[in-house]
Amino acid sequence: MEKLKLKLILPIILALAISAIVSTTVLFYYLTQEQDSDIRYMLKHQEVLFDVQSKNKLHIMEDMVSFLLTKDGVTNALERKDRKALLELSIPIYNFLKKQNITHLYFIATDKTTILRVHNTNAFGDSIDRFGLGKTVLTGLPHKGVEMGIESNLVLRYTYPVKKDGKVIGYIEIGQDVEKLLTEISDILGSYITVLVPQNSIDLAYYCKQKQLKEPKKYQFIGNYAVVASTLSNSGIIKKGYLEKELNIINSLSDDFFHYKKDMVDASGKTIGIVFYSQTISHDSKKKLIDALIIGSIVMIIVSLIIFIFYFEYIKKIDYTIRTQQEELENSALTDPLTGLNNRRYLDMMIQKKMATAKRCEKISVFYMLDIDHFKLYNDNYGHQKGDEALIKVADILKNHIKRSTDILVRMGGEEFGFFGIFENETKMIEFGHKILRVIHGAGIVHEFNKDFGVVTVSIGLSISTCQQNKTFEQLYKEADDALYISKENGRNTLTIYEG
Ligand code: GH3
Ligand code: MG
Ligand code: MG
Repeated sequence: MEKLKLKLILPIILALAISAIVSTTVLFYYLTQEQDSDIRYMLKHQEVLFDVQSKNKLHIMEDMVSFLLTKDGVTNALERKDRKALLELSIPIYNFLKKQNITHLYFIATDKTTILRVHNTNAFGDSIDRFGLGKTVLTGLPHKGVEMGIESNLVLRYTYPVKKDGKVIGYIEIGQDVEKLLTEISDILGSYITVLVPQNSIDLAYYCKQKQLKEPKKYQFIGNYAVVASTLSNSGIIKKGYLEKELNIINSLSDDFFHYKKDMVDASGKTIGIVFYSQTISHDSKKKLIDALIIGSIVMIIVSLIIFIFYFEYIKKIDYTIRTQQEELENSALTDPLTGLNNRRYLDMMIQKKMATAKRCEKISVFYMLDIDHFKLYNDNYGHQKGDEALIKVADILKNHIKRSTDILVRMGGEEFGFFGIFENETKMIEFGHKILRVIHGAGIVHEFNKDFGVVTVSIGLSISTCQQNKTFEQLYKEADDALYISKENGRNTLTIYEG
């Protein structure tokens, strides 16, 4: 039964444990998925907002160029390369642009040399070698897009060819640092944007020469990339490994950030680097996730416990039923249904153990064979039914007198009973035999046809085994039977001890 219990309980516990783990994992997975999609949505917004914001800024730039050109004298001043006039005329517009975070305003000659940088009046006369400007020069059409400057800073630029009588007389260019644009988006969304370009695309020597600097500008490097713009207070949270990852969504639960990676494409369509949109995982949603996990686990444990308790009770019940059924079955196989005494099978089963007890304590083992006298006549005259009742009465009398723990009393079959007992000596054995004869006779079960006595009597045959003799039960049984035969010969209602 213990084995059966283990066999049933172990798989149940295992199944419960597995289901607990699986459901908790599913729950966790579901919640992280949900969070993941929220963040994806948010990051996607950043990207869209970047585009929208860029377009807005370009519109402003376009409008401002148009507005500038409506002013009298601007075209002429540009044609004359009159720096002073250009500065005077453009200052109000430049001030307005600055408020929009648009910080670059150039007037450029047809040979691509700068006439005036309104944002840096000291730097002029240099030649500009940029894609956008090159394209405008080539096509005679305006151009817009993100471009990398000499400082490796990204600038959103609008280049416009100024014409007089159909002929280009110079260019106006307006630009905004992408970093400023990113800051605006970050402010709106409460998230972070970082732009990285390959280390080898930064020409530090050229930059120093242009800026007349001894020390090159200090960049933060991540792997082979340099951070050129970042709204993160610590762009170090972007790990080298993230740059190499194929995935464009990087979930870094350890530092509470989700990153979305995207190629940065410049105005010429060339990939110039990587943009990282980073979103913090709010503590709120993290807490929600942990709460859900804890609650989920507690519920699973309680449910498992309840199921386990019910199942355990169920098994106990089954165990009890099986055990009682088993006992009943065993008992019925070893009991005589008429008298309720044990049967011959029981005697055979128990006798070896009982005889061994006698051997140890140096007492005598005795087997009594009892047989009801003239019982055939009882049956024939009073009927079988009455015969059964008489058998039950005799069995009850025997039960009442034979009840020591070492005794075995059985119905051998028919109207014969067997009794095995352990006695200290022969005297006690004989005394007990006579007592049995007496009590059965004394019960007064009328049996007119048991001529000499008028009531039911029994005859007894006795056989003894001492420690020295150490007889087998078969021997003991045969001898008692022989002795019984002599009791019958001797007139019944008597006992005989087997003697050799
Ligand atoms: P004796 O004194 O020599 O033992 O004579 P007896 O008639 O008792 O012996 P015998 O062996 O001739 O008959 C035994 C009878 O016991 C036969 C049968 O009618 C009766 N008997 C045996 N088993 C049962 C039983 O289960 N119920 C009843 N009612 N009678 C039984
Ligand atoms: Mg008989
Ligand atoms: Mg008989």
